[in-house]
Amino acid sequence: MRCVRCGNHEDKVIDSRSNKDGMSIRRRRQCLKCDHRFTTYEALEQRELYVIKRDKTREPLERAKLLQSLSKAAEKRPISRETLEESVDGIISELEEIGGAEVEASRIGLAVMRKLKAIDPVAYVRYASVYRSFQDVGEFLNEIQNMNDDPMHGTHHPELFKVKEPKPKPSAGAAKTLSSSST
Ligand SMILES: [Zn+2]
Repeated sequence: MRCVRCGNHEDKVIDSRSNKDGMSIRRRRQCLKCDHRFTTYEALEQRELYVIKRDKTREPLERAKLLQSLSKAAEKRPISRETLEESVDGIISELEEIGGAEVEASRIGLAVMRKLKAIDPVAYVRYASVYRSFQDVGEFLNEIQNMNDDPMHGTHHPELFKVKEPKPKPSAGAAKTLSSSST
């Protein structure tokens, strides 16, 4: 496995355990060059799931791609790689349970959003904003509104609400009210 830190291809497995469902193996590895530790997951190969995209074309659902989109949304957030991996596994098995060999892209998007919502509100909104490409701004704002009702949210994540707006210039008269009343 290629080390994510230094790119070296040699590592040793320091821990190996089977997942609860017995469908995958989680391996803890250590790079032989820089000692960086990372985790890999080996999954049982299953029937391929196809994604039907908005333009009606089909392509195989790629776990790596899905993981990448989650990772992107989770950038600089306190979310571990393991959590992301597990989320992706959860999303895929959820999609497989729906049945059928094909799944609509919108369905995947919703599954991802549900997962992220439970993990991290910022990652969730990031994903939602990209996924929806602001096609439906009203719906997007509703999502944010809904999250305000979430006790997890609020003052802890002020970065969500940093909207770039030109600041109104301070009016010259505003500071003048402190002058009188000392005779
Ligand atoms: Zn390394």
